[in-house]
Amino acid sequence: MTHAPLHGHHLIAGRRQAEAPPTLRATDPSTGSPLEPPFAEATAAEVDRALALAEAAFEADRGRPAEHRAALLDAIADEIEALGEALVERATAETGLPAARIRGERGRTCGQLRMFADVVREGRWVDARIDTARPDRKPAPRPDLRRMHVPLGPVVVFGASNFPLAFSVAGGDTASALAAGCPVVVKAHPAHPGTSEWVGRAVNQAVARTGLHPGTFSMLHTASPERSQDLVRHPLTRAVGFTGSLRAGRALFDAAAARPEPIPVYAEMGSTNPVVVLPEALAEEGDAIADGLAGSLTLGAGQFCTCPGVVLGVRGPALDRFAERLAAAVGATGPFTLLHAGIREGYEAGVQRWDVTDGVRLLARGTENDGETATPALAAVAVVSAAAFREDDGLREEVFGPATLLVEADDEADLEAAVRALDGHLTGTLWGTDDELAARPALVATLARRVGRLIVRGYPTGVEVSPAMQHGGPYPATTDARSTSVGTAAIERFARPVCFQDAPEAVLPPELHDANPRGVWRLVDGALTRDPVGAPGRTEA
Ligand code: NAP
Repeated sequence: MTHAPLHGHHLIAGRRQAEAPPTLRATDPSTGSPLEPPFAEATAAEVDRALALAEAAFEADRGRPAEHRAALLDAIADEIEALGEALVERATAETGLPAARIRGERGRTCGQLRMFADVVREGRWVDARIDTARPDRKPAPRPDLRRMHVPLGPVVVFGASNFPLAFSVAGGDTASALAAGCPVVVKAHPAHPGTSEWVGRAVNQAVARTGLHPGTFSMLHTASPERSQDLVRHPLTRAVGFTGSLRAGRALFDAAAARPEPIPVYAEMGSTNPVVVLPEALAEEGDAIADGLAGSLTLGAGQFCTCPGVVLGVRGPALDRFAERLAAAVGATGPFTLLHAGIREGYEAGVQRWDVTDGVRLLARGTENDGETATPALAAVAVVSAAAFREDDGLREEVFGPATLLVEADDEADLEAAVRALDGHLTGTLWGTDDELAARPALVATLARRVGRLIVRGYPTGVEVSPAMQHGGPYPATTDARSTSVGTAAIERFARPVCFQDAPEAVLPPELHDANPRGVWRLVDGALTRDPVGAPGRTEA
């Protein structure tokens, strides 16, 4: 199938538009060569138009059956697949990621779009609760109360650089916001504007096919932090989804909090995903854990938010052997190609910072070769004492890329103190025998308090997209530890509960009608059921 070439314009409510001349250009990180075409920079008027049309779409489509949103999500997945190799080639050129990874990520992206279509059809996510009226209750009658989640309104999504499909234009944030019933305005990541345009065009096709208001989706290109902040500050924006650096995420969070009417920002930011290896596990399986960690921390050139960037253990011969093995495995890896020059600069600065910090020793760097890449990175392993790790805040910051810091504790008390010094993370991993874990409830609780996902005897990379997944964590891993950006629960970020009191059915959404026409699970007078209110056999209080 042939597709019209990339045009480099914004997509605003189904139409290509560009007021300002094209000045943004993607670069192939493998070669350093600029890629055609140039892309337009968004103007303030275009930001305003995209959000005004998103609001118009929200108003126009509010009462539509849930099936329309489910059909939209399925159609987006179909349209992305129909892009075929054109999408894979462009994404590979813009990110330096191998085609197999891009194809895998496309599968995940389409899978999560279809998963959210199922969530919408099934309907349980609205968390419908009905407390029927008790007019005879003494001393005061109880009113009829019916509560469920409703969409927030227009959502701004920032595409992430490290997942050009799964956390970008039609990634998890967009899929979950559309599933909740929110129109979306995407800020494309400037490192992969062509990939973004392909996917944006697929979303446009899907919106048109399903007959939803075209303002349901818009996508703008900009490399200006000021314009990004305009998107967050716009009075019609109701929530923000973001994945990237702590610096940018925090700037957007602060901008949202400073609005006359603050809005939620769901920013997923830095995480070093600490891995704690307890003595018995170290002695019994140290070699295998070291090999597994080397694989996990270099996977995708370490550019995963779940990359294991810190490993903690108790000093001794077993930890020495483990360190040697990890250093050897990491040292044997060749140069990696990073996503863009900015990430490479950040990575090199982070490893250099380790190198010049008193008490930190670089144990290994990856092997150079003659292969050419414009954004090369050698993997790195460094070692530091737990005392220095606790005292130097900088050592606990994420070095984004294929690097890990081994933290050596003097004893178990020192290890626990180092764990206590950790900030919030997406994941924390414990390697220990069952007996070791059972004997250390305080250590387990301390780590669990600091992470969104506690992994036992595993590796943090590889995030399942499923109902029970939690991909979030206490600050600075995210700006809201109560939420997840992966899995079906991600939809909750873009909705709010509303309670209808003594409302006639004409006023109520179908999920709250007595007859339960959609057959969703509801909590009726405290009991979970799919039955209509007042169904025979049901006991009403
Ligand atoms: P980034 O710098 O956080 O940028 C992400 C998005 O935010 C971009 O669209 C960027 O637009 C925008 N932005 C940046 N600064 C802003 C500001 N002050 N106000 C408003 N918007 C702003 O992420 P990146 O370019 O992908 O990579 C840079 C670093 O982010 C990496 O080295 C790494 O440390 C971190 N990162 C972390 C993760 C993770 O999952 N933990 C993922 C990706 C990146 P412009 O580029 O147009 O300014």
